[in-house]
Amino acid sequence: MMSPTLPVLDPSAPEQGSAMSLELLLRNLPGAAYRCLNDGEWSMLFLSDGIEQLTGYSAAAFTARPGLSFASLILPEDRAQVDHAVAAALAHAQPFHVTYRIRIAGGEVRWICEQGALNLDAGAPGVLEGFMSDFTLLKQADQLVMEQASYLQRARDAIIALDMDSRIHYWNQGAERLYGWSAGEARGKRFCDLLCDKPELYHLAFAHTVADGEWTGELDHVRRDGSTLDVDTRWTLLPPDEVLGAAQKILVIGTDVSERKINEARIFRLAFFDSLTELPNRANLLDHLRRALLGSARTRKCGALMFCDLDNFKYLNDSQGHAAGDLLLQAVARRLEHCVRESDMVARLGGDEFVILTQPVEDTRELAALQAETVTRKILAAMAAPFQLADLGYTLSVSVGVVTLCGTVDTVESTLRQADAAMYQAKASGRNTFRFHDPAVQAAWSARAQLESGLRRALQHDEFELHYQPQLDHSGHVIGAEALLRWRLPNGKLLYPAEFIRAAEESGMIIDIGRWVLRIACAELARWQRVKETAGLTLSVNVSARQFTEPDFVAMLQQIFEHSGVDPAGLKLELTESLVVSDFSTTAHTMATLKRRGLSFSLDDFGTGYSSLAYLRKLPLDQLKIDHSFMRDVLTDQNDASIVRSIIALGDSLGLQVIAEGVETPGQRQFLSDAGCFIYQGYLYQRALSSEHFTQYARGLH
Ligand code: C2E
Ligand code: MG
Ligand code: MG
Repeated sequence: MMSPTLPVLDPSAPEQGSAMSLELLLRNLPGAAYRCLNDGEWSMLFLSDGIEQLTGYSAAAFTARPGLSFASLILPEDRAQVDHAVAAALAHAQPFHVTYRIRIAGGEVRWICEQGALNLDAGAPGVLEGFMSDFTLLKQADQLVMEQASYLQRARDAIIALDMDSRIHYWNQGAERLYGWSAGEARGKRFCDLLCDKPELYHLAFAHTVADGEWTGELDHVRRDGSTLDVDTRWTLLPPDEVLGAAQKILVIGTDVSERKINEARIFRLAFFDSLTELPNRANLLDHLRRALLGSARTRKCGALMFCDLDNFKYLNDSQGHAAGDLLLQAVARRLEHCVRESDMVARLGGDEFVILTQPVEDTRELAALQAETVTRKILAAMAAPFQLADLGYTLSVSVGVVTLCGTVDTVESTLRQADAAMYQAKASGRNTFRFHDPAVQAAWSARAQLESGLRRALQHDEFELHYQPQLDHSGHVIGAEALLRWRLPNGKLLYPAEFIRAAEESGMIIDIGRWVLRIACAELARWQRVKETAGLTLSVNVSARQFTEPDFVAMLQQIFEHSGVDPAGLKLELTESLVVSDFSTTAHTMATLKRRGLSFSLDDFGTGYSSLAYLRKLPLDQLKIDHSFMRDVLTDQNDASIVRSIIALGDSLGLQVIAEGVETPGQRQFLSDAGCFIYQGYLYQRALSSEHFTQYARGLH
């Protein structure tokens, strides 16, 4: 309002008659009406009593008090805006509407909303009529809403409201910062089109929110620049607001946790990994070891822990400096990792001490020890290759202490102590080797190691012998023999296969030993074939599964045939059921090839394995050999008797010859012949004989 002074209403003026009733009308209205002349002075013609409630000054006060005008109440900073609004309205002959603040009596500031217009009907120069009301409360409420909206806007978190069709309805500045899309760009787009890396998870969150009213979880989101981030989100279903007329919405509040996750990962690495080698550290190992011990106690399965200490590491550190030492430790860590399975753990305890923990998955302590030995041998071999440290070549060895974890209630500390002690024993016995902590395992291992080196020596020094156990027909004629391996120790003692065949199989030496057996057996058979009395005999040779499945087995045999000049028709290979079952197609193929060379095949230890009829029918077999375990009690045990009868019947029906081994008494032989088996091998006739004694026996010279 531009009026500098406000004249008081004069009821005697003729043009003021209607103003009387107007004043009555307006008296109770919350606001003040006015009318003033557009005379440059804004001479007040009328001011309603409401002015007192509005300003704290009565209408009369505005004329009585010098210097008091309505305009003088307007806050100085709002004055120009009011003048401008009124001037513009007058210039265009339009109503004006303006809001501003006044300081009322008592000093309080109130918000005023004023609307007015120039009324030219009253004749020149016209009058300005208007109404002023107090909208302080409304303004305050409005400000509160704006303030609250601004909190949402400026929140650090991304705050997004979605329509029920997944379109973005609200998008605050936090969302702009987090995702790089402005509110204008985001609004109206589908949430997933803009942000989702894994839409399935988004759909899950949405469905849960609709069903349960809320959902909390982490989502992978994509920024505008294509980079991804982890966002911790909280979803809330907002019901429709009937007062505001707002439809149902979903509010998503998202916090960027990428950095927190990176920090957590960094803290985790610092706490549980060794910074030099990046291997799990001591704390990490202790935790895994504790769990492995608990697991082993629960499942009764066995694993192992190998404590490795580099030999003479201190020397490298002292002579070449710590940088070289660090390089070596890193290189050792990488090599150790290559020696283990993925499920095993390689950790660095500190200094030059490393530990390998294998999971408790083996059925027995022996198997776990065997597995640990394999890993340890790998480690020793891996360390043996020279290391290249910058321009320094370095050769290293390692001493290893092994302890098996096998369902006992050992503590983490005692397990490590035992492995450490075993490692010191390895050091004490000359380094570059390993020792078991468990005395029984160590003793078994030492015996095995001795046996293996003995087998190696036996091959080199010709300590093996083949003995021949006769096989006879029903009328007592020798028709052949089985070659059985013996090991004559340098002290003259004779060892039987039960004492060494398993070690030979497990160490792989059975391949070389088996080749020796076939060479000697074929030479012997060739000799028999050259003499009339023994020319028709067959020689059965036991062949281990490992040997038979060697890729060059056939070629190797062929070479032996040529070298010995033997007729392979006299040779019979004894295979076991386990071989046949384990790799049927290779076995069948090799058998067929050899069969074409004239060899025959016997299925040894028949009845103890898992052969199915299907296998038997498909293999080019010639003979079934009833295992001697059935013979022992065949006369007293009904089960054994019926098994033997069934085997004989089965052989008959498949057109296979059946031989019984382990025949020790005439009664057993009688039982066999009654059941239809007419070929025998056993102590009833002879034990395995030396080459010379066998030929005498076969010629009937015994
Ligand atoms: P196998 O092939 O079943 O051999 C039969 C075993 O029964 C032989 O034991 C033999 O001496 C024994 N035996 C023979 N007659 C009787 C008897 O009347 N009563 C009793 N109680 N036993 C009798 P040996 O020579 O100790 O051989 C044991 C096993 O070692 C053989 O069982 C065979 O699986 C394996 N073996 C022997 N020689 C070789 C070989 O050169 N190579 C391979 N891979 N394995 C061999
Ligand atoms: Mg045999
Ligand atoms: Mg047998």
